[in-house]
Amino acid sequence: MGAKQGSTSGSTPGGPAGGGSADGDRRIGRRALIVGGAAAAVGTGVLARDELSRLWWRIPGVERPREDGVVDYAGARWVAASDANWRRADRPDDFGIDMVIVHVTQGSFDSAVRAFQDPGHKAAAHYIVGQDGRVTQMIRELDVAYHAGNRDYNERSVGIEHAGFVDRPQDFTDAMYAASARLTAGICARYGIPVDRKHILGHVEVPGTDHTDPGPHWDWDRYLELVRRAATSGPSKPPTKA
Ligand SMILES: [Zn+2]
Repeated sequence: MGAKQGSTSGSTPGGPAGGGSADGDRRIGRRALIVGGAAAAVGTGVLARDELSRLWWRIPGVERPREDGVVDYAGARWVAASDANWRRADRPDDFGIDMVIVHVTQGSFDSAVRAFQDPGHKAAAHYIVGQDGRVTQMIRELDVAYHAGNRDYNERSVGIEHAGFVDRPQDFTDAMYAASARLTAGICARYGIPVDRKHILGHVEVPGTDHTDPGPHWDWDRYLELVRRAATSGPSKPPTKA
């Protein structure tokens, strides 16, 4: 989210990356074509039937099955963001994920949830972490969330919001750091992202942004140490129902 406006990235020049509906229309057309092609391939025996049923979503343009309420991080609760604030994708197959971007909401946890549910907000992150350590997922990691104000960075990253204000260090609680670090450790494990400051960065470090979050009070040394510790304490889990 932004430093002053209290909105994620909506006011950033260049706006949320990616065109919503035009993109979606193109995808449907491509999908229909390729599903037809796959059926033809089965006919000629190129792909065994069971192989196809297992791998059909790996065909470019065909989406993985999705189920309501499924989260990518076992500790998260699912609340869907408005689909105006993100773009359907099939990461990491169409876009590789090599970054985690840390934000601060400049508002309460609940106001961030409401903003991401608002189709007029034009921005949202994948996750929101509360000061009590609760984690809500609002966009699947498969999909591109409009949180960085930079199309390339949106496509390559997972965005995590933290409830609070950049100028209030007391908002960054022990519970928040611990929960966020576990979440980030899981993301890094899922996509093979190195745990360092080149790959775990603040919104302020995204090229072209006018946002300052997470601000000078976010303790990066502490955070990365917690992520490293969480990374060695257990394997990441596959998507689970919240
Ligand atoms: Zn931000």
